[in-house]
Amino acid sequence: MAFDQTFAVWFNGEMMRWTEANVPVTTHGLHYGTGVFEGIRCYNTADGPAVFRLTPHLARFYSSAQTYHLNIPYTTEELTEAIDETIRRNDFRDCYVRPICFSGGESLGIRARNSVNVAIIAWAWANEHGHAANVRGVRATISPWRKFHHSMMPTTAKASGQYLNSRLAVEEAARRGFDEALLLNAEGDLAEGAVENIFLIRGGVLYTNDERSSILLGVTRSTVIDLAGELGLPVEITTLKAEDLFAADEAFLTGTAAEIVGIREVDGKIIGGVGETGPVTRRIQKLFRECVEGRHPRRASWLHHVNPQIERRDEREEVTVGV
Ligand code: PMP
Repeated sequence: MAFDQTFAVWFNGEMMRWTEANVPVTTHGLHYGTGVFEGIRCYNTADGPAVFRLTPHLARFYSSAQTYHLNIPYTTEELTEAIDETIRRNDFRDCYVRPICFSGGESLGIRARNSVNVAIIAWAWANEHGHAANVRGVRATISPWRKFHHSMMPTTAKASGQYLNSRLAVEEAARRGFDEALLLNAEGDLAEGAVENIFLIRGGVLYTNDERSSILLGVTRSTVIDLAGELGLPVEITTLKAEDLFAADEAFLTGTAAEIVGIREVDGKIIGGVGETGPVTRRIQKLFRECVEGRHPRRASWLHHVNPQIERRDEREEVTVGV
């Protein structure tokens, strides 16, 4: 089970056992998907566990919540402390962190204005596609399921109910033996992967799309845009066509769970004739790894070091007792 190493969950302001952090079956968020969430990674650095790009992740959490009129009753500082506490209590060095905010179980009408609940869950999750995929790349397929248009649902919000679209796409792709689904949008252009943004590389230029293509604006996407600048690689934000994918030298996906993963083939066609993660993608992956592991001094501000307060206090107490 994914939660074998998860003992404690932060739920509505309190730490409790994972087995006790439960909700009623009448929870609105369960019936209608009225919730918003984040996916954040904590990495093991030489200075202890550190959360990568916490600020933009929390900003998106509040903004997704606002879109669905869920008023998060905690400040950024309180949620930051809750995240630190959750990582500390579970004694994680690296893990995946999932803040979720959802409408409670007092009433089940579509118009119900229920309590707003917030939980922070952390668990050990190596990589969406496995570490081997970082080198080999994934085999993707263009999904028969289209990404819903931003006029149908706010695609820039990370909301629970919106993931039924991704779920249908990954299940359908898996049934046909593929690792990942790429979704076209209502216009027939490339939107994104089921839970990742997409980048194409051609002639040393990176191409990616934006919210006009009905995508979620990924934090990893913005990280890669920054890092491309550092590597001297121009980035063009534009509409991506499916045929651009087949003409690309390289293609890769970005997301917190998947990190940066090459696309080695799409529907049986090898991308760029390489058959594995391409060389430019590998340069970006390497720099990304340096950043998340705290080995890139100029990007130190991207890491939020988990406040080791409690551990230090315990150590001091032990020392005092010993004296
Ligand atoms: N698109 C979708 C639909 C996603 O679910 C995700 C994962 N949050 C992404 C893109 C990538 O976003 P991020 O880099 O912030 O994880």
